[in-house]
Amino acid sequence: MNVNIKQDNEKILGDIRDRKPVLWLNDHHLPFKQLRGQLDVSVLDIKDAEARLKRFAPFIKEVFEDTKILDGLIESPISEISDFKSTLEKTYQFQFPGKFLLKRDDLLPIAGTIKARGAIYEVLHHAEALAFEEGLLNSYEDDYTQFASKEFQDFFKQYTVVVGTTGNLGISSGVMSAKIGFNVQVHMSHEAKQWKKDYLRSHGVQVFEHKTNFTEAVNKGRLSAETDPYAYFIDDEHSIQLFLGYTTAGPRLKQQLIDQDILVDEDHPLMVYLPCGVGGSPGGVTYGLKQIYGDNVHCFFAQPTHVPSMLLGQISQKFADISVYDFGIDGLTVMDGLAVPRTSQIVAKLMSAIFDGGYTLTDKESNRLLTTLKDVEDIFVEPAATAGLVGPQRLFNTEAGQNYLRHKNLTDKVANMTHIAWATGGSMVPADEQVLFYENGKSNQ
Ligand SMILES: *Cc1c(COP(=O)(O)O)cnc(C)c1O
Repeated sequence: MNVNIKQDNEKILGDIRDRKPVLWLNDHHLPFKQLRGQLDVSVLDIKDAEARLKRFAPFIKEVFEDTKILDGLIESPISEISDFKSTLEKTYQFQFPGKFLLKRDDLLPIAGTIKARGAIYEVLHHAEALAFEEGLLNSYEDDYTQFASKEFQDFFKQYTVVVGTTGNLGISSGVMSAKIGFNVQVHMSHEAKQWKKDYLRSHGVQVFEHKTNFTEAVNKGRLSAETDPYAYFIDDEHSIQLFLGYTTAGPRLKQQLIDQDILVDEDHPLMVYLPCGVGGSPGGVTYGLKQIYGDNVHCFFAQPTHVPSMLLGQISQKFADISVYDFGIDGLTVMDGLAVPRTSQIVAKLMSAIFDGGYTLTDKESNRLLTTLKDVEDIFVEPAATAGLVGPQRLFNTEAGQNYLRHKNLTDKVANMTHIAWATGGSMVPADEQVLFYENGKSNQ
């Protein structure tokens, strides 16, 4: 426990219960260098995941047209959003120095959401393991474009990949699984949008619609996979492979920052704001970044006021043993990718001493951010992906944020900071739905 952070957790829990926006500082945080070596996931595991994605790149390049220019790597650009920054400063009447960048995972090839990093990795990991078991592959140096061959496809046809999701995990894992030749079953929770179901079905994916929340949809999928020895379940709540896929964003981002001459060190802190659902994607990205920058990178997780599952899990230290319903909160939000009432046990525990804090935002605020980003930068992101955009405001324009800056000795370094909001999805949202989201924010401005 860090004795220096002054924060009234009881008051914060009260505000969370009242669904008021909060900023919570992680008072269980420990210096990353103190944790290195004691953690379940090592830097070697991340390197292994990176190497696997490189092995598959020739195959991916061959079967997904939009990955050709990246040589089969599934990566997104990062760009400065200075007009959005000025508008944010004007709207909230505060100022923050330093660059504000947007990580454009809304543009990730194949799936257009951050899920592509984790889900596609896990599908490939599974396919590779089966191929070695069967003797289709004998060495990492073998030609992986064979995955597109009839021989491989016929082999994988015997197997099924099952997943439970609010939608986006289904798209990433479903589309890649279908390309490998797997049968795919996607179990969807009530938030799942019709267009996501239609899209998956058009890719030959079997979609099961459940009138239940995310946790229940995942349970349905898990049960269905358990009874079939040829089925493999991608478990959003427990999967270490998904997590590893997300961690590879760390070394990729490092290279992008080097390419843009952006320095990250003790005097040049990096602040990253990540939308958080079950916790896998923000947790994995944070983990990858901390392995590189230690605590010179500061990572904040953003959740809807109606779905503060990670925050509740961390503040109570009950992790996945508490849900937003236990707190009398309904779990309903426009930020559908974040509609996860209970956090992931492994990620929440792993993050407990690592991530730096979390905040919540209302649906109304999310709507407005979505519309503003479209108006001033001509960038459309989906509602869940707006959550990181307000991060600098929380840090610079609230008492808790000021407390954080003082506590971490950051006040004299603010001019050297780089801020990154992670835009976790958006480009796949159909045009007519984009218009609806946009108008929603317009009427709230
Ligand atoms: C899933 C998702 C997230 C959050 O990722 P988790 O691993 O669930 O925390 C954020 N944004 C979008 C668009 C998503 O689909």
